Amino acid sequence: MTFEALGLNTSILKALTDAGYTKPTPVQEQAVPAAIAGKDLLVSSQTGSGKTAAFMLPSLHRLAATEPTAAGRTPNQEMQAARARGERPRFRPAQPKMLVLTPTRELALQVTTNTDKYSVNLRRIKAVSILGGMPYPKQMQLLAKNPEILVATPGRLIDHMESGKIDFSQLEILVLDEADRMLDMGFIDDIEKIVAATPAGRQTMLFSATLDGVVGNMARRITKEPQIIQIMTAANKHENITQRVHFVDDLSHKNRLLDHLLRDESLDQAVVFTATKRDADTIADRLNIAGFSAAALHGDMHQGARNRTLDSLRRGQVKVLVATDVAARGIDVPNITHVFNYDLPKFPEDYVHRIGRTGRAGRNGQAISLVNHAEGMHVKRIERFTKQMIPVNVVEGYEPKKTGAAPRSSRPGGWKPGDNRGGAKPGQRSFSKPGAPRRDGVSGSAEGYKGPGFKANNPYNSDRPRRSYGDR
Ligand code: AMP
Repeated sequence: MTFEALGLNTSILKALTDAGYTKPTPVQEQAVPAAIAGKDLLVSSQTGSGKTAAFMLPSLHRLAATEPTAAGRTPNQEMQAARARGERPRFRPAQPKMLVLTPTRELALQVTTNTDKYSVNLRRIKAVSILGGMPYPKQMQLLAKNPEILVATPGRLIDHMESGKIDFSQLEILVLDEADRMLDMGFIDDIEKIVAATPAGRQTMLFSATLDGVVGNMARRITKEPQIIQIMTAANKHENITQRVHFVDDLSHKNRLLDHLLRDESLDQAVVFTATKRDADTIADRLNIAGFSAAALHGDMHQGARNRTLDSLRRGQVKVLVATDVAARGIDVPNITHVFNYDLPKFPEDYVHRIGRTGRAGRNGQAISLVNHAEGMHVKRIERFTKQMIPVNVVEGYEPKKTGAAPRSSRPGGWKPGDNRGGAKPGQRSFSKPGAPRRDGVSGSAEGYKGPGFKANNPYNSDRPRRSYGDR
C-alpha cells in the first residue's frame, strides 16, 4: 500500500516524501482512509506504531479542505484592524478546529513537531502546544494567532477554557492520544469537561494501548459508531527488543552492574529509569563522576530544563538519560539502544512504555531490568501483562550471591554452566510457575503470594485501575 492510495492531498504526500516516509505503517493503512471518510475511531496501538500520523494526516487533509478560521483573520489581526479603525479592540477567544489531548508535555511537543513536519506545505495550518509549565504570556501570544490545531495537556487547557481564552464551538476534530495514560493520571474529569465543551457533531479519534475497562467505557460515551482498529505489530509486541533481568544483591551490586553494562560496546545511548526524582538526580551525578555524559529528567524540573535535556539527548550530547516515568512515553530518539530499569516500574504497562524508548524506527534494542531478589513477583506480573517471559542473565564477575531467585533461564552467551549457582537450570523458572512450590516454600503463583513484601495496596497485587500518578 502507498500513501497515494490512502487518498491524501498532494501537499501532504510531498511532505511525507520529504520526511523519508515510503509507505504507511499498519495503523496508518487502516486509520487514514476511515478518518478521511469522517468516521470516529477507537484505535489500540502504541507509541512507535506511527499513530501520530495515523490521526494527523487525515485531519490535515480535512482541515486543508475547509474554510480558514475566522474568515482568514486571527484574533490578533482583528484587534489590530479594530485599533486602525479607531475602535476599542474586543478580545476574541481562539477557535481551534482540531484538538489533540495528550497525557504529558513531552508527548504534546512530539505531536506538534510531527504535525509541523506533515503540514509544512499547508501554510495556513498552524499547530500550537498548550502545556502546563509554559509561561501564560507566551501561551496567550500563541492563542492570539488563532491556530487551527491545539495540542494540549488537559489541566492547562481547562485553565484557558475557564478564563474564556479558548472557544471550542468551531471544533471539528477531537483526538485523545494515549487515553489510557490520561485516565491513569487522573484526568477523567478534565477530559469529560473538555469533551462537553466541544460540538456534538465533531469527529472523535481515541488512541490507547488498551480499549478495555475504564478507557473502553469512556470511549463508548464520547464516540459515535466508531470503527475499532486493533494493531498488534512487531513494534508494539516489542519483538525487536531483547529483554532480560539481572538479579542483584544490594544497591552497591546494582550500581556496579549498571556501570559495567553501560560500558557495553553496542550501547549508543541509554535511558535508565528510576522510581524517584531524587534517585534520578543522584544516579545522573554519580554516572557523570564515573565519566559518562549523563543527565537527569523528572517532573520537578522546569519545562525549559526538560526541553534542553531532551534536545541534548536528541543531539547525542547526553549519552545516558536517568529519568522517572515522565520519560516513559513520547521520547523518540533512534540512537537509544538500551533501556535500564534501575527500579522496576510500579505498573506493568509502564514497563511496556519504558522499554519502547529503545528499538525505535525499526532498529533493535535491549531492555535490562536490575531486580532485587524480593522483586521476583513484580517480574512475574510484567511477564503476565506482556505475555512474554523475560530471561534472566548473569554477567561473569557480577553474579548475585543469593540463590533464592536464581536464574530461571538464560540467553545465549549469558548463562554458562557454573554461573548458575544452585539455581534453576537453563529454561527452568524458579518462581514463576503458577502454583509450583518455590525453593523458599512460598507459593509461586502471583495470586496466592502473600509472603514478604506483600502489601495490600501494592499495585502488583491488584488489577484495579490506577487513579493518580505521582511523578510527572
Ligand atoms: P509514533 O508512533 O507516532 O510515535 O511514531 C513513531 C516514529 O515513526 C516517529 O519517529 C515517526 O516520525 C515515524 N513514522 C511514522 N510513520 C512513519 C512511516 N509511515 N514511515 C516511516 N516512519 C514513520
